[in-house]
Amino acid sequence: MPHDSDNSSLPPTAASVLEVKDLHTQFDTRAGVLPVVNGVGFRLEKGKVLGLVGESGSGKSVTGFSIMGLLDAPGRIVSGQVLFNGQDLAQLDARALRNIRGNRIAMIFQDPMATLNPVLRIDVQMLETIHAHRKMGKAEALEHCRQTLARMGIPSPHERLKAYPHQLSGGMRQRVAIAIALLNGPELIIADEPTTALDVTIQAQILSEMQQLVRETGTALIWISHDLSVVAGLADDIAVMYAGRIVEHGSVDAVLDTPQHPYTQGLIGSLP
Ligand code: ADP
Ligand code: MG
Repeated sequence: MPHDSDNSSLPPTAASVLEVKDLHTQFDTRAGVLPVVNGVGFRLEKGKVLGLVGESGSGKSVTGFSIMGLLDAPGRIVSGQVLFNGQDLAQLDARALRNIRGNRIAMIFQDPMATLNPVLRIDVQMLETIHAHRKMGKAEALEHCRQTLARMGIPSPHERLKAYPHQLSGGMRQRVAIAIALLNGPELIIADEPTTALDVTIQAQILSEMQQLVRETGTALIWISHDLSVVAGLADDIAVMYAGRIVEHGSVDAVLDTPQHPYTQGLIGSLP
């Protein structure tokens, strides 16, 4: 093979796990076109946590769905790019996308039942998730499930595996949903307010488990929250969304200490 001396065949952004470029997403409603994401762009490196903050309706979830390719009609990406390890996700065929989604990129939702199937035992769901993406003997796969549950701070993982979702508490269900997202060792996790509905103690425990996970595995993490104080303890960088735009983006310290945008200044002013 000819040697490519100037590396020009390498994507220029290969170092970033994720690069979102000038993303525009809109909804076609009866009342007309509703622009929801209006030029969002950011990069995320391996092992880094980006806190995506903003008030309800500012377009955080739609940004997450757009990255994940989970946007359904009437929503659509109008322009912009989502590069995963330098690869434009829009250019991939369905098979390649399936291999990335739920495997190399995982999403966690506010409601754990968006991930969990109410009529299947946890072990069945976890094994399905593993076997959808790779071959692994049952004993080894079950051991991997137990370890992943334990990593999310779940006591007696062996017993939990035999449970149905309704037999677990809300916090436990969310931990299981997160464990399912972790099973195939994703390079990127998009977490859309997964602790918002949980009480503060459990929220703090899950945040610290996620922090440890990022440190140990180098997974990149986008943590979406309407609550700046929740994100501040976990994230390296914070992006503040307002009306479909990122109005502020920087390190946690920079955003908290010297916020540039009036909306961020208001947010910080209202922190306890
Ligand atoms: P956030 O997660 O920041 O609370 P979302 O990203 O869920 O906000 O939604 C942003 C805006 O997008 C909403 O205020 C709404 O106007 C619009 N939107 C979201 N989903 C739909 C939909 N299915 N149909 C029409 N508009 C939608
Ligand atoms: Mg949301």
